Amino acid sequence: MIRSVADIRQAFLDYFAKQGHTIVASSPLVPGNDATLLFTNAGMVQFKETFLGHESRPYVRATTAQRCVRAGGKHNDLDNVGYTARHHTFFEMLGNFSFGDYFKREAIEYAWDFLTRVLQLPPEKLWVTVYEEDDEAADLWLKHIKVDPQRFSRCGKKDNFWMMGDTGPCGPCSEIFYDHGEAVFGGPPGSPDEDGDRYIEIWNLVFMQYNRNASGQLTPLPRPSVDTGMGLERLSAVLQKVHSNYEIDLFQHLLAAVGELAGTSDYTNSSMRVIADHIRACAFLIVDGVVPSNEGRGYVLRRIIRRAIRHGHKLGLREPFFHQLVDALDREMGEAYPELRASKDVARKVLLQEEQRFADTLDQGMKVFEQAIGELTGTEIPGELIFRLYDTYGFPTDLTGDIARERGLRLDMDGFEAQMSAQRARARAASQFTADWSQNQAQSDLQSEFKGYETAQIQAAVVAMYE
Ligand code: ATP
Ligand code: MG
Ligand code: MG
Ligand code: MG
Repeated sequence: MIRSVADIRQAFLDYFAKQGHTIVASSPLVPGNDATLLFTNAGMVQFKETFLGHESRPYVRATTAQRCVRAGGKHNDLDNVGYTARHHTFFEMLGNFSFGDYFKREAIEYAWDFLTRVLQLPPEKLWVTVYEEDDEAADLWLKHIKVDPQRFSRCGKKDNFWMMGDTGPCGPCSEIFYDHGEAVFGGPPGSPDEDGDRYIEIWNLVFMQYNRNASGQLTPLPRPSVDTGMGLERLSAVLQKVHSNYEIDLFQHLLAAVGELAGTSDYTNSSMRVIADHIRACAFLIVDGVVPSNEGRGYVLRRIIRRAIRHGHKLGLREPFFHQLVDALDREMGEAYPELRASKDVARKVLLQEEQRFADTLDQGMKVFEQAIGELTGTEIPGELIFRLYDTYGFPTDLTGDIARERGLRLDMDGFEAQMSAQRARARAASQFTADWSQNQAQSDLQSEFKGYETAQIQAAVVAMYE
């Protein structure tokens, strides 16, 4: 049975509502309660204080479809987008939560019941992992649910101990994967080649038991709780019997809108896919109050917008196009997210402005890049070029990294750093000669608007890219 993304979202919420969960609206992408977090990256974020016991709610069970962005911070998927079948910068996470009410047994029973009875997924397509030390969860899966031990494994901390960030609620988890079949590369969870896209993780059941402090110490939460997260796009791919998230109805419609602008119907083209992905992140970030800027959240937004524009450039789009996709997005998601519908004009305007701002320097920068690459010996892009593109043409380093990767080239980031420190030293020296101020000022007025990024913010951007 084919179900639309909208149907699947609703079926999930209805199922958990029937099991006594209160349906709670998605919170914004900018976490209202947490300065340690760049963006809302999971369904549990809005419930963090409840898990910690600092806040009580009129319910002990909740269910949500939460908008998430993973483009920076601990869970950063920006560099996966366009390269895997399953990662987006923006996605929706379906979740059910227990605040000191039910624990492992019910969490596992609900998940299995929803997937195999309600959605009718064949159990032999599902693989399960638990944290290596979690005998209780292992027993529940093997003895109670009776999953086949051949499709069951125990994994280490990296995959099966979930943390929201460096601090905050955390605990061992159990994950459910869907096997997309032999035609797709990749080994089962826990195996050396698990990074392929054959076995795709769909649902993570986190048994919230601890709070982690800044020094890494774990203290037990007041009451053991449950936090689960399932990617709506990944589940939709499974139910619509397609492999890649980009083949689901919602993305096919967005891709059609991109294709109309770009004059192509090749929806497998990775630039097309990146643009379809990025319009969701960018429009929703603006709706949630982020504006493109040179620091913090605004700089992450600017980086994503510029990546999208660069992919448009690659498709031959030379006029502002990105903002035009907001209407298609609204048709797909405006009903589920009234805040998008209410602010879509703002989103369109802000995106257009950013496009106009980057248009000229992108084109010039690409020419400089192409020429330098033509003369390149070896496979490393010199720091001087990365710096020039950054400083004069407004190319965030991750954007240059994205172009480099397409051509099998690497970035000399040490060289880039050296250029950055040299520039900082020059700026310091110049600021000591106040008599030269007016002359410096006149000169800097002529310089590109991209000069003068703050040190801390450049470092943050570079760190975010390589962490
Ligand atoms: P993966 O290992 O595939 O990167 P994850 O382990 O980082 O996923 P979790 O933090 O466990 O993901 O998040 C819970 C669920 O959210 C995942 O099981 C998946 O269905 C979905 N999800 C996570 N990251 C993304 C993403 N970037 N795009 C789309 N869905 C995602
Ligand atoms: Mg991940
Ligand atoms: Mg994982
Ligand atoms: Mg996971």
